[in-house]
Amino acid sequence: MLSSRTSQGFHSKTTPSAQRSSPIRRAELYLPGRKCHKRSCHSHPVHTRAPDNRLHGGRGRICRHTTQRASQQWKMVKFALQFKATLEHVTNLRPEGDDFRWFLKLKCGNCGEISDKWQYITLMDSVPLKGGRGSASMVQKCKLCSRENSIDILRDTITPYNADDSEKFKTMVQFECRGLEPVDFQPQAGFCAKGAESGTPFSEINLQEADWTDYDEKVNESVGIYEVTHKFIKC
Ligand SMILES: [Zn+2]
Repeated sequence: MLSSRTSQGFHSKTTPSAQRSSPIRRAELYLPGRKCHKRSCHSHPVHTRAPDNRLHGGRGRICRHTTQRASQQWKMVKFALQFKATLEHVTNLRPEGDDFRWFLKLKCGNCGEISDKWQYITLMDSVPLKGGRGSASMVQKCKLCSRENSIDILRDTITPYNADDSEKFKTMVQFECRGLEPVDFQPQAGFCAKGAESGTPFSEINLQEADWTDYDEKVNESVGIYEVTHKFIKC
C-alpha cells in the first residue's frame, strides 16, 4: 500500500503532466494588458503580469508572439535632449569631438525594461541595421524581451548652448530611435566652451557634478556653468 502510493506520487510528478506543463510555461510569457495578435494563441489572449513572476527572475515577460509582431512594426521616433544651465561669462558650450560620449539610460518600448547601467554612444560608432535600413550608433537586444532596438545620434542636430540660452531649455542633440527611448542622460567629461567676451577656449569640461568653474586669465574673471539639468522631448 505504502510502496504503491509512493510510486504513484513519483510518477505523477515527473511524467505526462509535468511534460505537458513545461512548454506551456515557456509560452506563457507576459506583457501586462497587451493582447496577443496571434489567433491561435489560446493560452494567453490578454497578457497580465506573471503570477509566478518570481520564477521569471522577479519580472514579467513578453509573449513571443507579441515580440515578433512588435519587431515587424516598430517605427522610428526622434527624441530631443534639451539642456539647461546657468552660464557665467562663457558661451558656445558643446560636446567636443566625435568621441564624445552621450551617457544614456534607455527604455525598451516593447516591455518597458530600463537599463540599470549608463550606456554611452558616440558619433564614431556605426552598426548596420537589418534589412538595409541604414545604420545606427548602437543596436542592442533587450535583456528582458530579446527585441532588437537601436538608437542613432543625428550629427546635424548637435547644437551649442550659448550665453543667450542661459537658464532656458534648448535642444542640444536629437536621437533617432527604433524600439526604445532615452529616459535619462548624464553629462560627464568632454564638453568645451569659450569665454563669452574674451573667446578664451575651455576644453575638457566635466559637468557630472552639475557645476563647473574656471578662471579666464585674459579678462581676469571667473567663469562657470551651474545647475546643469536636462529633459527629453519627443520630436
Ligand atoms: Zn524589452
